[in-house]
Amino acid sequence: MNSRLSTNPPTVRGPLRLLRRHAAGVRRLRIAVLAPPWIAVPPDGYGGIEAVVDLLCRGLVVRGHDVTLFAAPGSRSTAHVQTLLDAPHPDMIGLALYESDHVACAWEQVDQAAAQGNPFDLLHDHSGFTALAMADRVGVPVVHTIHGAFDRDTSRFYRRHGHKATLVAISRSQAAGAPTGVAIHAVVPNPIAVERWPLVMQKQDYVLWIGRMAPVKGADRAIEAAELAGASLVLAGPVQPGQERYFREQIEPHIDGRRVRYVGEVAGAEKQQLYANARALLMPVRWPEPFGMVMIEALACGTPVIAFPEGAAAEIVIDGENGMLVSDEHKMARAIDQVGAMGAIDPARCRASAAERYDIAVTATGYERVYRHAAGVERAPAALAPHITSSPHVHPPQRSAHL
Ligand code: UDP
Repeated sequence: MNSRLSTNPPTVRGPLRLLRRHAAGVRRLRIAVLAPPWIAVPPDGYGGIEAVVDLLCRGLVVRGHDVTLFAAPGSRSTAHVQTLLDAPHPDMIGLALYESDHVACAWEQVDQAAAQGNPFDLLHDHSGFTALAMADRVGVPVVHTIHGAFDRDTSRFYRRHGHKATLVAISRSQAAGAPTGVAIHAVVPNPIAVERWPLVMQKQDYVLWIGRMAPVKGADRAIEAAELAGASLVLAGPVQPGQERYFREQIEPHIDGRRVRYVGEVAGAEKQQLYANARALLMPVRWPEPFGMVMIEALACGTPVIAFPEGAAAEIVIDGENGMLVSDEHKMARAIDQVGAMGAIDPARCRASAAERYDIAVTATGYERVYRHAAGVERAPAALAPHITSSPHVHPPQRSAHL
């Protein structure tokens, strides 16, 4: 068994079962969370899914649940951490060799927990395709968060395998793009711990693009918009395997260290300062972006987002309030001018728009409802599970609906 425990406290067996009821008589859940095998949780730099898993685990533990996180080596969490492979594989993202190994080991752990009399109530999968395809081969209900966009191939995959788990979308736009016959049970937005991000009211004179160097993310379009606006642009993010040619041909020729600066992959305080001091985040995406963590990170820092209205960008950005929605590079250039005008967009309002809609509590509450449905256990009382359907970003459960 290629498995080892981290230095986190080991799972307490036996007596814990008796403690699974809160004083109020509410069943607490024993949840297995399956992260991808590629990058440790929390990520040092790039890693949107890992950042989400980190915050979700924290939110669930705070709410009293017993959470075990299966994740890449090096992971840390307030949940019990159990690593399954010998090393993380940040340069092998998607490789079946590692993903299938990771998932098979997790399935063994789930079975082992049941055999030892301490079964999980459910498994929440964030790991990719293998776990969903094999979700009917593990002895607990599986909740699967769809982190990617629906295209021809993934639509076919979800049509074939989607019924094996309770499916959760991360934005209304992603849910709306689900293929016919694929039942999205709920929409639960990704979380952010807003208080961990600095709010800066006085911005500096540059705009920011941050992300992976994939053409859909539009670093080249950000360059064009910034050049049209005569604005300085900072580009940040990794060049992942397969993105070298795009970077070499479309991005590198524009980098002059002055008007266009490329700072590579950023993390920690450096990343936060880049967000917080920017006049705006540019989001010239040309794909149905299912969520876009970079947008809520910018908003948390009081930095407006200027985005093309693709995918979830049109939900996260409230035009004129926390940013601007524009249709092309020319309009983005005009928006760069406008957003700098005194009082055009209030940084405090940007931050509030993230806190109100994407706080960890919103996400944890949303998933708690999904888990109780999937595991078939009683609902939490109002104090533990505030009514969430009033939020425009959390849909009530739809058993078989195509949203
Ligand atoms: N990121 C980072 N350093 C970088 C570039 C990106 O830490 O140099 C992080 C960014 O802060 C965000 C994540 O990587 O948390 C990207 O997630 P997003 O949902 O925006 O994009 P995707 O998952 O589609 O790549």
